[in-house]
Amino acid sequence: MRIVVTNDDGIHSPGLTALAKALSKLGEVWVVAPDRERTAAAHAVTLHKPLRVQQLGARMYAVSGTPVDCVNLAVLKILPAPPDLLVSGINRGVNLGDDVLYSGTVSAAMEGTILGIPSMAVSQEGQEHFYFDAGARYAVRIARLIMKEGLPDETLVNLNIPNRPFTSITGVRVTCLSRRRFHNPIIEKVDPRGRTYYWIAGTRVSWSRSKDADHEALEQGAVSLTPIHLDTTNHAVLDRFRTWETVRRPGARQVTAAVKPKGKKKG
Ligand code: MN
Repeated sequence: MRIVVTNDDGIHSPGLTALAKALSKLGEVWVVAPDRERTAAAHAVTLHKPLRVQQLGARMYAVSGTPVDCVNLAVLKILPAPPDLLVSGINRGVNLGDDVLYSGTVSAAMEGTILGIPSMAVSQEGQEHFYFDAGARYAVRIARLIMKEGLPDETLVNLNIPNRPFTSITGVRVTCLSRRRFHNPIIEKVDPRGRTYYWIAGTRVSWSRSKDADHEALEQGAVSLTPIHLDTTNHAVLDRFRTWETVRRPGARQVTAAVKPKGKKKG
């Protein structure tokens, strides 16, 4: 079995090292990761400059691009054949709720899913000290289940690990994405030359859309497992929007009013 490991914290991140080491129990691990930190790169692709790939060791490659670049290069170029599994992480810090829209970690797993590879993103709570060994052990457990049972169509797994020793983690909860926004998100300061600058920061505020929110699992010391679907269409409201189709119906007043009378050319 062939496994791609990537991340958005850069190839030298200890979270990636712990993850790659733990997953090597399951198969042949190929590390293809950004050569520097690319946190919050989301789903960016590098289109306007060359990508360089540097081999750092056996099946270990640093890429001068984003996490999504890494996944494409790994799957379509570097590996001798498509991988059986792709795991992104372990990220330094959670990716809960709205975080998944900004996260390079989650986007890498999303890109794996787009390419048809069973994929999982793994992130761990915390800021300074991380129990990555605990996170890696849970990543392996869930990776085993993914290989055994497969994933539904267009679905990736978003795993978030509480930052505590393995033995004090209270289990795995299946969760939904919460809302996660920032309070006072833009800080304004003045630089040493007297010019104003801005810093996107602020304090995080989370709240639940429904029961089983992802942040609640972590607050209870459990691993949060959210299945994420690529199709973000709001299927429940399609009928409500179908009434808007009238703006394009031939003969409808809104359209004919904008059409110029035949035969009269401008000028
Ligand atoms: Mn990161």
